[in-house]
Amino acid sequence: MRFIDEFRNAELVRRLADKIARVSTRPSRLMEFCGGHTVAIMRNGIRQLLPPTIEMLSGPGCPVCVTANSDIDEAIALAGLPDVIITTFGDMLKVPGSYSSLQKARAEGSDIRIVYSTQDALQVARDNPQQSIIFIGVGFETTAPTVAMAVVQAEKEDLRNFYVLCQLKTTPPAMRALLDLGEIKINGIICPGHVTTIIGTGPYQAYARDYGVACVVAGFEPVDILQAVEMLVQQIERGDPRVEIAYTRGVRPGGNLKALELMHNVFDTAGASWRGLGEIPCSGLKLKMKYARFDAGRAFDVVLPPAREAPGCRCGEVLRGVIAPTGCKLFRKACSPENPIGPCMVSSEGSCAAYYQYGESDG
Ligand code: SF4
Repeated sequence: MRFIDEFRNAELVRRLADKIARVSTRPSRLMEFCGGHTVAIMRNGIRQLLPPTIEMLSGPGCPVCVTANSDIDEAIALAGLPDVIITTFGDMLKVPGSYSSLQKARAEGSDIRIVYSTQDALQVARDNPQQSIIFIGVGFETTAPTVAMAVVQAEKEDLRNFYVLCQLKTTPPAMRALLDLGEIKINGIICPGHVTTIIGTGPYQAYARDYGVACVVAGFEPVDILQAVEMLVQQIERGDPRVEIAYTRGVRPGGNLKALELMHNVFDTAGASWRGLGEIPCSGLKLKMKYARFDAGRAFDVVLPPAREAPGCRCGEVLRGVIAPTGCKLFRKACSPENPIGPCMVSSEGSCAAYYQYGESDG
């Protein structure tokens, strides 16, 4: 198949769903790690096409959702400093921290600007040499190379007023932490398509080998996802967990070596705090010492309030796949996209937002 329409072909979707129903004989729990997959699965009604033997769970693969309240609080505190312009992707604006959000801070007078790329953030820095421009670096391995490139560019131009609040995270340690918790038995993982384009499939070998979990990398169209489900079910039925790629048009086993090299040149790994999973060693990216002058965490001193979670919000359990969004008592009641209580209802990749927009009304 060469054209995107072919990956949305209704007849192909039906044939794949029929095949999955024929092949699947035992209860199988599959988790899609990536928030992009969660949205695609909900939007295309994939769950309804699967036999009752297959249970689909959503995982912690939405970078905005897993950003800890303390990290959001830091961004809000930085926004309150004089002569600071915060630049951020739009998804972060409405995400509630412990006491406020960037959107509320903006309404109260902070200069917070939405950008569509790190290059836009650099341009804000060039256009405002008297002010300090802080880019909120939230994302996984797909975003990290663009942040790295911006830092390298800022150094090349000797931009003295550009900073990054580096809250980037890496996905393999989080998957491992989730499997180590053992709260839920997962038989197969739909591995993230875009992240794997960068990191390759190497990190997933351990999940198949050490945890006996089937792994298939999927794209984001209905045929992509059903192909991945079918490959996972075949592995599970054979009792032969391994790592396979369904998304062959986007992913190579070795990943993107240039992007990896750029990341390795700019970042060191560090511990990072994940909503729902807590502190995970080596799951974050921090700027290397040679780029320390761009690190907003070093350059600015802010006093943070004690972090707290919104009462009743169960985003942590949603992100671990322990409950579906419909298992939260606030879902569709106190919590909605217009009045989000947790980040999973804000982000375009959040499970609660996807269930709200495309899913059933109760659990
Ligand atoms: S429905 Fe709202 S309050 Fe409940 S887990 Fe989701 S985001 Fe949190």
